[in-house]
Amino acid sequence: MPPSPEPTQALAARLADVDARIADAAAAAGRRPAEITRIVVTKFHPAALVEDLYSLGVRDMGENRQQEFSAKADEVGPLEGLRWHFIGQAQTNKARAIRSAASVVHSVDRARLADALDAAGSPGAPTLDVLLQVNLTDDPGRGGTTADDLESLAAHVAGLPTLRVRGIMAVAPLEVPADRAFERLPQLSATVRRVVPEASWISAGMTADFAEAIAAGATHLRIGSAITGPRPERG
Ligand SMILES: *Cc1c(COP(=O)(O)O)cnc(C)c1O
Repeated sequence: MPPSPEPTQALAARLADVDARIADAAAAAGRRPAEITRIVVTKFHPAALVEDLYSLGVRDMGENRQQEFSAKADEVGPLEGLRWHFIGQAQTNKARAIRSAASVVHSVDRARLADALDAAGSPGAPTLDVLLQVNLTDDPGRGGTTADDLESLAAHVAGLPTLRVRGIMAVAPLEVPADRAFERLPQLSATVRRVVPEASWISAGMTADFAEAIAAGATHLRIGSAITGPRPERG
């Protein structure tokens, strides 16, 4: 089915607007936009939106729930150059399903999950890029490993043959200004690079805080509603 022209036009306008804001934030931080990957988070939206985004040139899509992700990736099917980023909390028993569709898993926050993702790799399959999710708060209920455990998690994951540690991922807590929360990113990134020197990716920044994330050195932005529009209600 051809994409409907009217919504695609609005989508294209929002995408262009966000990309212009990314370029501005990069310039303000003395960085090149080319070193920043903009992932469009399509959660709660139908597969048709992914196809519309793809037709607009978007190649990096993000999803945060395994069931929805698997179904959508299936429905969209293989598209040249499309990369799915899994960005949500993951259960170990869903590792196989996640691995079968994801190019990158941003949310590796414990050794057991890494082990399960590694075990899910079939022989000869490409290595899976993973990021270590770090909790930027002192509340252990939030997703992500603590800063204290980050180095040992990096060492563990680096030892798994089918995973490749690419860097860190973080979500800014709502109760602190984003620029303050993201101040810790360079140091957390350095912690991982002591173990895996080339693991330079920093996945941070959403609709509300991507400019602050760029200023703090983010290399991968996960942007949903600013591009997709408001998410449909979910029952
Ligand atoms: C939903 C989500 C995003 C995108 O959120 P927006 O505010 O819509 O940009 C980014 N990261 C994670 C982990 C998410 O779950």
